[in-house]
Amino acid sequence: MDETDAADILRGFWLNRVESSSSQELILATCPFCGKGDRIRLLSDETQEVSVIQETDYQAAWETLASKDRLPAICGFCLNVVLIRDGQAEMPGAQ
Ligand SMILES: [Zn+2]
Repeated sequence: MDETDAADILRGFWLNRVESSSSQELILATCPFCGKGDRIRLLSDETQEVSVIQETDYQAAWETLASKDRLPAICGFCLNVVLIRDGQAEMPGAQ
C-alpha cells in the first residue's frame, strides 16, 4: 500500500468523526495542503469504532503511515491526512 492510498483510507474513516473527536490531540503545525495551522488533530490507532470489514484496511493503512518518529493527523479545515514529524506536518507520499 502506498502512502497516498493509506492516507485515503484513514481520511475516509475520520472524515465524519474529526469534529466530534475533541479527545484527539491538537497539533500546532501548518497544513501542507491548505496552509492553515490550528486545527490539525492527531489520529489514533484505536479501532474499536472501525467495523470488522474496515479493520484490516485501517490497520494496514495505519502501519503504512505511522512510525516511531511520524504520526498521522487530519486537518480540520481541508480534511486531508497529514504526517506529523518533529512538529511539522508533511504531505503523505511526498518523499
Ligand atoms: Zn488543511
